[in-house]
Amino acid sequence: MTESASLYRDDGSLWLEGVALETLAERFGTPLYVYSRAIIEDRYRSFAHAFAGSPGSLSCYAVKANSTLAVLGVLARLGAGFDIVSGGELQRVLKAGGEASRVVFSGVGKSAGDIAMALDAGILCFNIESAAELERIAAIAGARGRVAPISVRVNPDVDAQSHPYISTGLRENKFGVDMAEARALYRRAATLGSVRVSGIDCHIGSQITSLAPFVDAMARVLALVDELADAGIVLEHIDAGGGLGVVYRDETPPATAEYARAVIAQLGGRKLRLLTEPGRAIVAPAGVLLTRVEYLKRNGERGFAVVDAGMNDLLRPALYGAWMGIEPVRPRTGALETWDIVGPVCESADFLGKERLMTLAEGDLLAVRGAGAYSYAMSSNYNSRCRAAEVMVDGDAAFLVRERECFADLVRGERLLPAGG
Ligand SMILES: *Cc1c(COP(=O)(O)O)cnc(C)c1O
Repeated sequence: MTESASLYRDDGSLWLEGVALETLAERFGTPLYVYSRAIIEDRYRSFAHAFAGSPGSLSCYAVKANSTLAVLGVLARLGAGFDIVSGGELQRVLKAGGEASRVVFSGVGKSAGDIAMALDAGILCFNIESAAELERIAAIAGARGRVAPISVRVNPDVDAQSHPYISTGLRENKFGVDMAEARALYRRAATLGSVRVSGIDCHIGSQITSLAPFVDAMARVLALVDELADAGIVLEHIDAGGGLGVVYRDETPPATAEYARAVIAQLGGRKLRLLTEPGRAIVAPAGVLLTRVEYLKRNGERGFAVVDAGMNDLLRPALYGAWMGIEPVRPRTGALETWDIVGPVCESADFLGKERLMTLAEGDLLAVRGAGAYSYAMSSNYNSRCRAAEVMVDGDAAFLVRERECFADLVRGERLLPAGG
């Protein structure tokens, strides 16, 4: 519950809150995801406090970063808002005790069924990403006798060249609409009886580690807000999106308070409710993946530690070449050697880390840091591997919040062809 909750070493071993990670691996097996309730709460509160000076502000946790019910439940109890990208995520939020009135719905491909579900639940806002989506939402709302609150997701086209530290995706045309199209969508929306123009939103990328892109994007979006107001279209809220980076290695992302100050400063005296959609910044530091060394092998010069977690459990290194901290839970003495930490999956991309210096023996337990975001949430059953279990630590207690999958889970819903023929 303190601001300093984090993974730490005591007596040579790694701990999360009042629980030694070794004991969790023994009790629940590996690979195992472990989350700290205190860190999740600290991180969410850091956003809530940082934006508290802006009346009506709401941080809508981006569910896709980690949609485990227990994680959503911890956040729901803090009164969090949620940013969803599917009907499945909406159902998770509601099941975890979250309030529909605090939910914003993002995503380029909202299905008719998901739109109807969100309308009936009474969400805060649909973040619209195309003209076709606006028409679809208006039609569905009209048919159900409802009025859909909408925001247009604009692509502020912040110059990626001048901010080379922003990861790719900034200019992805798939997301949002440009300024000119946004103007047209607002004019169209103002004529539709079954939608209510509520706000404007943007989301410029993820793992952003400086303030400049956020400030530039806000400035551009606010220029459009002012222009719309002059044309008689007055917005109630602005949603600055997510994207605040975290430390995986040696990055120096702005503190939440610094980020909030910069965003609020851009707002100036405008009476707009400020929403944000942080995902990674809330959950990444709250999770570790525990994995055991199965085999050590050498191919020529190269040393491989084959561990029991693979790319199906943790895709980030394979998908983005993401660097994640890996360390022995209880380091042993002896000569340091260089190891590639690889999984059992039959793909060369199946690695968790490359060229890591440590002293290892078979059976050693490793911890992968920063595995609270985009980790379990992206896991799969590739190679017919059962997905890992998840544990939430709360003080001295540890709760199994998701059982390890078993073979029956793998084949649920599958059928052989009829006999004969
Ligand atoms: C993924 C996403 C977020 C969260 O991004 P983080 O980098 O995890 O903070 C927020 N909003 C939208 C629309 C997203 O797609």
